[in-house]
Amino acid sequence: MKPNLIGGAWVEGGEAAENINPSDTDDVIGIYAQAGRAETEQAIAAAEAAFTDWSVSPVQQRHDILRHIGDAILARCDEIAEMLAREEGKILSEARAETERAGRIFLFFAGEALRLTGEVMPSVRPGVGVEITREPVGPVGLITPWNFPIAIPAWKIAPALCHGNTVVFKPAELVPGTAWLLAEIIAGSGLPAGVFNLVMGVGRVVGQTMLDTRALRAISFTGSQATGQLVAEACLRHQRKFQLEMGGKNPLVVLDDADLELATDVALDGAFFSTGQRCTASSRLIVTDDIHARFVEQLTEKLRTLTVGHALDPASKMGPVVDQVQLEQDLDFIAGARRDGANLRAGGALVQCRTRGFFLAPTLFTDTDPAMRINREEVFGPVATVIRARDYDHALMLANDTPFGLTAGICTRSLKFSQHFKRYAQAGMVMVNLPTAGVDYHVPFGGAKGSSFGPREQGRHAAEFFTTVKTAYTRSY
Ligand code: NAD
Repeated sequence: MKPNLIGGAWVEGGEAAENINPSDTDDVIGIYAQAGRAETEQAIAAAEAAFTDWSVSPVQQRHDILRHIGDAILARCDEIAEMLAREEGKILSEARAETERAGRIFLFFAGEALRLTGEVMPSVRPGVGVEITREPVGPVGLITPWNFPIAIPAWKIAPALCHGNTVVFKPAELVPGTAWLLAEIIAGSGLPAGVFNLVMGVGRVVGQTMLDTRALRAISFTGSQATGQLVAEACLRHQRKFQLEMGGKNPLVVLDDADLELATDVALDGAFFSTGQRCTASSRLIVTDDIHARFVEQLTEKLRTLTVGHALDPASKMGPVVDQVQLEQDLDFIAGARRDGANLRAGGALVQCRTRGFFLAPTLFTDTDPAMRINREEVFGPVATVIRARDYDHALMLANDTPFGLTAGICTRSLKFSQHFKRYAQAGMVMVNLPTAGVDYHVPFGGAKGSSFGPREQGRHAAEFFTTVKTAYTRSY
């Protein structure tokens, strides 16, 4: 059994759970410890005990450790990517890209550790100086979803450690394998015991204990809106900092003047790569009248090239859905869209492969109405809709007609419309002639409206969440 990491020791206590491959349900990847309340409380206590020393640790030490972790992830990229593809179901090339990104995130924050700064300014009172510094928040809890098993943990753990916080990390139930490999690397990096703790287990036990325990001074959460709401309420009760990254219903606008080849490539990638299981997926394709027929035809053609299969098979272009529950949710959305009168243009059914897995054909609906459930709620699967728009203004209105606001994209050759869209799309991230999914690792990540709450993740902006500002005054005579 793969144990949890608590206070620098590998701890087997608690129950155990099998990790099953969604490409082949006969493949048991491993057995992983499931922490209970007691183990989670131990991990929180360990993070609390380690905080004082780590909060004032030399930046050279932080740099060296973060760099070691980043280098080790890159050195073990093939092994980690294979585990990731096996347990999450994204194809190997996507898993490798995600792993590389995680390694680079640690290297970025290794650099950031040497660039921690503050401000010095004169007071309004004579003879008094003012220093503004950023201090770590404390022991922090990091709760992550299954769809990016290493990138999202990396973009929370690396800035937390860089800025002098200690960490209790709770990965999603479905992806303990990648989290465990990451913890193994971190445990071997020279980080003092208790600064980083891994607690695998179920959300309503491990996650809930983290929310209930006052000692954690901040919670960074990525996952569904429903769980995000619980996190927010618990954090308000404890007057602790929190940041939420949640769902999306991201629009990709395609205007008449778009490069058709580019627009269909962008839609294919944005909507269906990683089996559409990305919070940044382009699930609503908003297409203006004159290009509509050509766009639908060409995208449908390209969907035929998206071979569905085992995530480790080099011939696969799209892996399985992550588990039975998610598959049933996807099928329920598909059935509902058909009942609502949407036109099923491609997919909509299971795909038979050599192994028993959760394989669903990439699914495209046309002639959809913005009010249909399929256009209101996040499916989180390989399902996209086309919504017809009269012109740019109508397309922009439809794009913003959602409670979510993570990403928004536009395909156009027009400088005027692309500039206007960048300004008026109600989203945290805007893409021009690029897929709505696929972001850089060194710049802010986050959304608007119902998709996010709190400061941005990634890049220099991560300091907003993982530090607290102190203002110190000195009279020099
Ligand atoms: P989820 O909300 O079910 O689970 C997320 C995490 O919360 C898991 O680790 C889970 O164990 C934990 N959890 C569950 N119940 C809890 C509780 N009571 N207390 C504390 N923690 C608890 O989400 P998921 O199904 O793993 O992920 C899919 C969702 O994540 C989608 O909605 C997707 O859009 C979203 N997501 C958002 C982003 C983003 O950056 N905006 C990125 C990736 C995924």
